[in-house]
Amino acid sequence: MDIVDGTSVDGPGLRTAIYTAGCAHACPGCHNPSTWAFDAGHNASVEDILKRVRINDFNVTLTGGDPMYQAKALVPLCDAIRACGYSIWCYTGFTFEQLLEHEDMAQLVRLVDVIVDGPFVQAQRNTDLFFRGSENQRIIDVAESLKAGHAVLAERYYEPSARL
Ligand code: SF4
Repeated sequence: MDIVDGTSVDGPGLRTAIYTAGCAHACPGCHNPSTWAFDAGHNASVEDILKRVRINDFNVTLTGGDPMYQAKALVPLCDAIRACGYSIWCYTGFTFEQLLEHEDMAQLVRLVDVIVDGPFVQAQRNTDLFFRGSENQRIIDVAESLKAGHAVLAERYYEPSARL
């Protein structure tokens, strides 16, 4: 859909946010319904996106839409982003447990540092939360979760200082 250079709300510090098209979760109150259509936006090559990421020289956030619907296409991009030394956050409407049940999604999970998971639930909306819209969503440390065999929260990003 778009690339935003230097966002400060989709993870700690300034980040390159890559917005992918397509989401079927249809959360009531979604902040970005224009990204739901799978044929929205335009095609972009891994090379072009990577060039932009390198010029910005920020860590990266995948968002949308739900990037996990394009997991297969994002694997080579995330491989290349990691090879450049940037950390990757990913927002998804799937839960961490659901992601691990799909081969392509699980492969992308393994290339991401932090996942903010779960649908946006309007009844649990809380504007005081950092990096997430509703209480049900979790900020998950992927490496620790894969090691533990269950979702482990990235506690450091729940602290106010994490915004800096
Ligand atoms: S998962 Fe995100 S983009 Fe998709 S409908 Fe829910 S809030 Fe909107």
